[in-house]
Amino acid sequence: MIQITMPLSFLGTVYREIRQAMIDMGGMFDLLEQPAEVVDAPGARPLQVTAGRVQFSDVTFAYDPARPILKGVTLDVLPGQTVAIVGSSGAGKSTIGRMLFRFYDVTGGAVSIDGQDLRHVTQASLHAQIGVVPQDTVLFNDTIHYNIAYGRPDATEDEVRAAARAANIDGFIASLPDGYQTTVGERGLKLSGGEKQRVGIARTLLKNPPILLLDEATSALDSQTEAEIQRELRAVGQGRTVITIAHRLSTIQDADRIVVLEEGRIVEHGTHDQLLARAGRYAQLWNRQTQDDAA
Ligand code: ATP
Repeated sequence: MIQITMPLSFLGTVYREIRQAMIDMGGMFDLLEQPAEVVDAPGARPLQVTAGRVQFSDVTFAYDPARPILKGVTLDVLPGQTVAIVGSSGAGKSTIGRMLFRFYDVTGGAVSIDGQDLRHVTQASLHAQIGVVPQDTVLFNDTIHYNIAYGRPDATEDEVRAAARAANIDGFIASLPDGYQTTVGERGLKLSGGEKQRVGIARTLLKNPPILLLDEATSALDSQTEAEIQRELRAVGQGRTVITIAHRLSTIQDADRIVVLEEGRIVEHGTHDQLLARAGRYAQLWNRQTQDDAA
């Protein structure tokens, strides 16, 4: 009996760990397309988030040494601030997200949270403190309760419901035949893009991280759903440090600061109004997008 149950429980543990790794990464397929390459440094300590200040100090990075992608990015995100990163496709926006999650180590400079260099903290503690709301939330073939509680399996039913309410998906769940016990995912009930994103928001709320990394939706949500989700994301961001990787400009106008990245360099930063008044790169991007939207 022992011989049978031990390998089974071992397999169970491995399976759970793989699933946990999949959700940590799988939830970020758009932002973080590749698996982590880095491992904990010897003697790495758990990250202690005291305030939630995120600093990039002269960060350089290249996936391939022959082709630098980030070329000296300096960015100081104060606790509780929302900073949006915008710029043309390929400018390096998602790469900044990958640096914050330490999917790769910087080539030069440093990324730190509350003064702790990310190279000196454990990956598990770093990932526990950063909530990622991706463009496309990955669902498991399991109950909706399980899918929401995934980041915190010990959450009570009341906590799961409260998170669902805050993400504005409790009414939808209540209308399902088996409520929170309804199976969703590939082999269960298929959820729409907006519903999936709300599950992702509820999951993040339950995890309650001090730092949020948002990969703004470019996905095909209708404009009303997009506006609602934006409202919910803003609410989730209250009291947290938020870094938004924005592919559309319409959703980040009220960020505390907007940073414009071009070819791996920050070329402008300021509020939406300040940047429009500057009539520079941001204004150009803004005008182009508003024209495209009107077309
Ligand atoms: P978009 O708005 O189109 O998503 P982005 O600003 O987020 O673009 P990144 O995804 O950060 O851009 O990519 C920046 C550059 O790095 C691109 O030229 C891209 O081809 C390159 N790149 C991204 N991931 C890798 C990788 N794993 N290996 C090599 N090059 C990569």
